[in-house]
Amino acid sequence: MARARIVAVANQKGGVGKTTTSVNLAASLAAQKNRVLLVDMDPQGNAGSGLGFFAPAEARTLYHVLLGQAGFDEILQPTEVESLQLAPSNTHLTGAEIELVSEMARETRLKRSLGRIADRFDVILLDCPPSLGLLTLNALTAADGVLIPLQCEYYALEGLSHLLKTIELVQGSLNERLTLDGVLLTMFDARNNLSHQVVEEVRQHMPGKVCETVIPRNVRLSEAPSHGKPGLLYDASSRGVQAYVALAAEVARQWSLPGATATTTTATTTTATTTIAARSPAG
Ligand code: ATP
Ligand code: MG
Repeated sequence: MARARIVAVANQKGGVGKTTTSVNLAASLAAQKNRVLLVDMDPQGNAGSGLGFFAPAEARTLYHVLLGQAGFDEILQPTEVESLQLAPSNTHLTGAEIELVSEMARETRLKRSLGRIADRFDVILLDCPPSLGLLTLNALTAADGVLIPLQCEYYALEGLSHLLKTIELVQGSLNERLTLDGVLLTMFDARNNLSHQVVEEVRQHMPGKVCETVIPRNVRLSEAPSHGKPGLLYDASSRGVQAYVALAAEVARQWSLPGATATTTTATTTTATTTIAARSPAG
């Protein structure tokens, strides 16, 4: 049986849209008939809460998996979206970063555990924390590809070279198959000139590496987590949610996912992509 494509959603910069992207891309890929697992790699637990799940202090979570005290089977949670499962985390995960330092093969913990369940999914998304510590390192070591959300704001490219350098280091030592799947521009504001400049600058800086789909700034995307729902179950017709549906169709083709074939969802998404691309100067 084919093994899932594992993708780390990473950027050590905070608040750029990693979790919003992880949750909404995961839900959209599941809606397009892929079997999806979302792994919450962040002690903040935002990916879980965005799906309406809170891991109580005594719950078994990713922390136990990374420390070898549980397998993924014991922690996986169903979600409201059929064929989307969650591997939850809570603040205990902060401890894992420290406790793992003295352990053997500390960077490959996630990779080995995921290896045991990877044939049960088509795609596994890893929502990384805003740091380049051991948690992100575990994600990059386990992943086939990295998706980097970049916020359309003045310092968008700041810190990117550090992240790219880290990816190169991981490619050279822990995981030579790791590829840069794409840079995803988020929180694009069509009325703001700066947003247009950032899109252009990033596309020039990283030719061929920027996702065609651009995610607009959209209040429905920021409201959905407080209802514990991915955007698709909160306001499916909003522009932000439709952009993630378009992104799902784009990456499903790129990653050759089984759910990639044209469906009614892809028909709507093409419009979303076109609308957004038409608003950006380089699109
Ligand atoms: P952290 O580094 O803390 O993990 P993050 O990179 O995961 O943050 P998010 O939590 O996804 O970033 O987003 C940061 C904030 O911006 C959140 O309040 C989220 O609701 C909001 N946000 C993200 N994307 C959008 C968008 N496209 N439109 C409007 N608000 C957004
Ligand atoms: Mg986050």
